[in-house]
Amino acid sequence: MEVVSKIEVLKTNLSELRKTNQRIGFVATMGALHEGHLQLIDRAKEEDDVVVCSIFVNPKQFDNAKDFEHYPISRDQDIEKLIARNCDFAFFPSVAEIYPQAFEYKTYDFQDLEKHMEGSYRKGHFQGMANVVSRLLKIVKADKAYFGEKDFQQLMIVKRLVEIESISTEIVGHPIVREESGLAMSSRNQRLSTQGREKAVLLHKSLQWTKEHLQTHSLENIQKHVSKWFKEQGLDLEYFVFCEPKDLVPLRSTENVENIRCFVAAYIDEIRLIDNIEMY
Ligand code: AMP
Repeated sequence: MEVVSKIEVLKTNLSELRKTNQRIGFVATMGALHEGHLQLIDRAKEEDDVVVCSIFVNPKQFDNAKDFEHYPISRDQDIEKLIARNCDFAFFPSVAEIYPQAFEYKTYDFQDLEKHMEGSYRKGHFQGMANVVSRLLKIVKADKAYFGEKDFQQLMIVKRLVEIESISTEIVGHPIVREESGLAMSSRNQRLSTQGREKAVLLHKSLQWTKEHLQTHSLENIQKHVSKWFKEQGLDLEYFVFCEPKDLVPLRSTENVENIRCFVAAYIDEIRLIDNIEMY
C-alpha cells in the first residue's frame, strides 16, 4: 500500500492506473478506523480494481470545538488496518493541502435535506462536509465512492452534491456495521466508558422496538415512550424522528407514506452518538 500526503503525487499515480482502465474505488474517512470503515474498503475491493482511502479530520465540519479536539487520531494503527484489508492508497493530506489560500469555500443549497436532524443540531456541519467531499472527489476522480448509511443524511447530501457539482463518481451507500450488542460502530465509541457503552445500546434498542410497534402505535406515542426511556436510563436525547428517505423531512403520521426511516441522536457522557434504521 502507498501512503501519500501530497495531492499531486496521488493524482499522478491514479492517472497512470486509469490509463490501463483500472477502476478506482474511494472511501473518505476521518480515521480511527473500525470495522464499519473497513467493510467499506472490502466492498470497494470487491467492486473496483484500485482502492483509495482518505484520512482527514476536517476542521470545517465540526460545530463543536471540544468534539474536534477530542476526535481520536491513530495514524499508525489505521495504516496497519488498511494494509491488512489490501487497500492500495492511504491518502493523509494536511489541512494546508486541502484548504490552500486560494480555496473557494462554497455554500450549497441542499434544500430540505440539510434542514433537519444533523443539519439543525450541527450548524454548518453539512456545508463543511460537502466542501471537503467535493474537493476529495475531484482529486480522486473515482468510478465509485462508498459512504455508510450510519450517516444516512450525509449519504443523501453527497448524492445531491455530485449532481450539483456534475461529478461523475457513482455514490454507493453501504449498510450500517454494528457490534454484537447492536451498537452502531463509530470512532466516537472509543471515548465511551464501559458503563457508557452499555447505555449506548439503547439507541439501537429503541429503533428496533419502534420498528416492532410502528403498526400499532402513533408516531407521537412512540416518541413520548422513547423520550421517557432515554430519561430513565440517564441519556440525553437530542432527537428521535421519522422521515421519508427521499426528502428527510420529519413526519407527523405514517398516512400515505411509502418508506420510513427512523433517526436518533443522543449524548452519553457528553459523547454524541447517532443511529438510524429503515422501518419499512
Ligand atoms: P467517518 O470517519 O466517521 O467520517 O466515516 C467515514 C465513512 O464511514 C462514512 O461514510 C461513514 O458513514 C462510514 N461509517 C462509519 N461508521 C460506520 C458504520 N458503523 N457502518 C457503516 N459505515 C460507517
